[in-house]
Amino acid sequence: MKKTTILNLEQVKEIEKTCPTPFHIYDEKAIRKNVRELKEAFSWNKNYREYFAVKATPNPFILKILQEEGCGVDCSSFTELILSEALGFSGSDIMFSSNVTPMEEYKKASALGAYINLDDYTHIEYLAGGPGIPETICCRYNPGGVFELGTDIMDNPGESKYGFTKDQMIAGFRRLMELGAKKFGIHSFLASNTVSNEYYPALAGILFELAVELKEKTGADISFINLSGGVGIPYTPDKEPNDIKVIGEGVRQKYEEILVPAGLGDAAIFTELGRYMLGPYGQLVTKCIHQKHIYKEYAGLNTCACDLMRPAMYGSYHHITVLGKEDAPCDHKYDVTGSLCENNDKFAVDRMLPKIDIGDYLVIHDTGAHGYAMGYNYNGKLKSPELLLQEDGSVKMIRRGETPQDYFATFDFCDILNNIDYSVK
Ligand SMILES: *Cc1c(COP(=O)(O)O)cnc(C)c1O
Repeated sequence: MKKTTILNLEQVKEIEKTCPTPFHIYDEKAIRKNVRELKEAFSWNKNYREYFAVKATPNPFILKILQEEGCGVDCSSFTELILSEALGFSGSDIMFSSNVTPMEEYKKASALGAYINLDDYTHIEYLAGGPGIPETICCRYNPGGVFELGTDIMDNPGESKYGFTKDQMIAGFRRLMELGAKKFGIHSFLASNTVSNEYYPALAGILFELAVELKEKTGADISFINLSGGVGIPYTPDKEPNDIKVIGEGVRQKYEEILVPAGLGDAAIFTELGRYMLGPYGQLVTKCIHQKHIYKEYAGLNTCACDLMRPAMYGSYHHITVLGKEDAPCDHKYDVTGSLCENNDKFAVDRMLPKIDIGDYLVIHDTGAHGYAMGYNYNGKLKSPELLLQEDGSVKMIRRGETPQDYFATFDFCDILNNIDYSVK
């Protein structure tokens, strides 16, 4: 699929007059369209709901758009909970899917009436000894082993730190019932960024069969099945995107096949998608400020891994467009780098691109999820602003860029840095 940019060259030049690059830009219209298609694909399930994984794009303006489209939120930390609370999410709008959870986070989730998704068997007594077991409770399942789709190994649950084993799920449900739980959810996350229409249906098959077994063995009332995140996006242009209609239909078939005959035809389907909801609808707009010619050709940008860590962290591919040169031949090979004193701070290695000139704008694609959110302040680098291209075509700032004052804010208890000179001179 050909990758297009949210903004064209003229728009970027116009925005630069008031908000210089680098910046993140999100596309409101595309975000809304995508949520509507997702909801449509699961509309066969009466109580279907998407709980957006806040960690992917923790911006209140983005969360507001998703809230308007009917989404809940999936949180896993205190700050994500209070951000969600401030936006008016409460009770069944919030899924709390955490792990290694501190007590104060369980207390906050409990005070908000959120669905609590336990990551471990031992957390049952931990929660019972704190805010107590709520009437509805969810447990996260880890089937162990390797997770395969056809002949492809997708991921390795046996090596992952999350979830209960099967025996623990059974024992856990019994214990939770003794402690007063009345309704149950089950959750599992087996593979990340799956670009395959088979993942959700396969996961649904595993969870639905588990639900039937849990109902038979414990008598538990299973009210929802949470398919979690993991539906991916094609970062490379040669891949076809997932077809959410086909995915929804694949889950429906498993539902009819497994849950309905077992008397579980009322169970709600929940999802906690992050990447799929936002990934393609955010881009990082940057400028080439240096070029160097040593053993390789380097194009240096006015940003770094502080704005997008995925390439440095996972070696991930992010497509790059040189604005205004969309149709020029990709006949030059570059390493496209940031400015960190870390040799892995490269947005692309050996990438064929049009000839880049200093001052060219480079758009890094698919940064809408796990992009800004993952950035960090190593080297004292400051994170860029986030902008929203609104439905009416206007651009609004939805988070300002960091300043040196933000970077030093955690020294505000002492006067040693009182006399910092913030000017460039
Ligand atoms: C990260 C995460 C998600 C979202 O994952 P994506 O790959 O962005 O869809 C959902 N649920 C939980 C518990 C997570 O940790």
